Amino acid sequence: MKTGGYQTLTHLLSALRQWIIVTMIITGHTRCSPAYCLKQKTVDLLAECRFGFPKSLQEETELSLELVVSKNTTSVESELHTKRNDQRLNSHNRVMLENWRANLDLQVIVDEKACARYMAKYAAKGEPRSKLSVSSLQNDDQVSSAFKKAMI
Ligand SMILES: [Zn+2]
Repeated sequence: MKTGGYQTLTHLLSALRQWIIVTMIITGHTRCSPAYCLKQKTVDLLAECRFGFPKSLQEETELSLELVVSKNTTSVESELHTKRNDQRLNSHNRVMLENWRANLDLQVIVDEKACARYMAKYAAKGEPRSKLSVSSLQNDDQVSSAFKKAMI
């Protein structure tokens, strides 16, 4: 039996067991609470997790394309939805997680516009109690504006 580089099946099972434990402890968003992540956008809506948990299960990895029409341009935005079999785990890579041993929220960026938007959001990311809320940024104009405000 091939064991993927492990000396014995026992070593392989031990490594898998360790990976499962590390995955559940490090990347799991096991519950939501008002003190940490639950936010109520309007009075008439239920509070929602600002990180989007629990996440929808995804049987297959899919690429979604959306036509975006703004004042002067029309473009296509793409997003990769990776396969998901657990609603409470962050997206991660097993090899990266085994070596990093800290929280991972892996995102695959599939086009240059998404890459620019991702970097701008992180550069302008505010603390949860600051006036700047990254989660409210809906389009490129809002991201650009927030980025400029944060840099001034
Ligand atoms: Zn939450």
